[in-house]
Amino acid sequence: MFNEVLKMSTVKEQLIENVIAEDKISQSKITIIGAGSVGMACAISILLKDLADELALVDVSEDKLKGETMDLQHGSLFFSTSKIISGKDYSVSANSKIVIVTAGVRQNKGESRLDLVQRNVNIMKLIIPDIVRHSPDCKILVVSNPVDILTYVVWKLSGLPPSRVIGSGCNLDSARFRYLIGEKLGVHPTSCHAWVIGEHGDSSVPLWSGVNVAGVSLKTLHPKLGTDSDTEQWKNIHKRVVDSAYEIIKLKGYTSWAVGLSVTDLVGSIMKNLRRVHPVSTMVKGFYGIKEEIFLSVPCVLGRNGISDIVKVNLNPDEEDLFKKSANVLWNIQKELKF
Ligand code: NAD
Repeated sequence: MFNEVLKMSTVKEQLIENVIAEDKISQSKITIIGAGSVGMACAISILLKDLADELALVDVSEDKLKGETMDLQHGSLFFSTSKIISGKDYSVSANSKIVIVTAGVRQNKGESRLDLVQRNVNIMKLIIPDIVRHSPDCKILVVSNPVDILTYVVWKLSGLPPSRVIGSGCNLDSARFRYLIGEKLGVHPTSCHAWVIGEHGDSSVPLWSGVNVAGVSLKTLHPKLGTDSDTEQWKNIHKRVVDSAYEIIKLKGYTSWAVGLSVTDLVGSIMKNLRRVHPVSTMVKGFYGIKEEIFLSVPCVLGRNGISDIVKVNLNPDEEDLFKKSANVLWNIQKELKF
């Protein structure tokens, strides 16, 4: 009789006695919309940095989504995120702390970020209401391009406060800038402090006046730094930053690893409430004489509530002029958008 009861129990029942009902709500869930090159680079970086207890992926391409999800799940032994789920339906994203938007078309060879605008605006119209319905308290991190204009569009479509709609903006441009300065000096990028602000793209603004190593200003050592008459041609470093996406797309078809890592750095500041300062895209109306509702990158304090503060950088007249030009480029496109 005793053996018969044992036979009817499953291995799991014989092995494990459940003592309490499990709380199924995750504490640190992150969702990524778009399981393409950028979305999956974000996913693997977030998993390896242990930033989420649950990761959800959403995409319209079901086979690709299923394949990517299985591939990640099979790596579970090597990271500490207990649940990876995915689906076409936004219910899988419910209760996310951060939703990262990477869905949309990307640049083809020679195409600028601004060329993508209307196609990606149409995609935002489809996805944003569903994101907010399922995670009304989330922060939305916009990565799809043109990122500054789409961050504005997502802000409008979501009805969320600007503090909770963040564009990845010049976080990547600044990382590239710091890498290239580091390469020229033979110093690790973490010790090369430098900022690129404005548009993530062709009109981005390098802040040469702030470039420093250990607090020593390069501009003070070499006043021509970043100008056309500079014999050391530091200006080329910013040109290489602007050209990098075009060059990588020409070589491998898309960019992924650096953007995935830079987005993960932003996610880390939010999830761990680090209050680190990052150059991300936010509403800059009222700053530097800008009168329109434009999103551009400026140094922002990022924590659990999203963007809580903006650092007021003293721009010299040339930098302020370039920043305003960046704003004009975006406004001329933004004002024609229909959504
Ligand atoms: P990709 O084509 O590899 O992936 C895009 C994914 O979006 C695809 O899997 C597609 O099925 C999905 N998608 C399309 N419409 C969708 C919808 N309505 N709902 C859900 N998913 C949808 O492209 P990628 O290389 O991953 O680039 C994604 C975006 O990120 C592009 O706009 C690209 O320009 C941008 N990007 C931004 C930065 C940055 O620094 N901000 C850097 C690189 C790329």
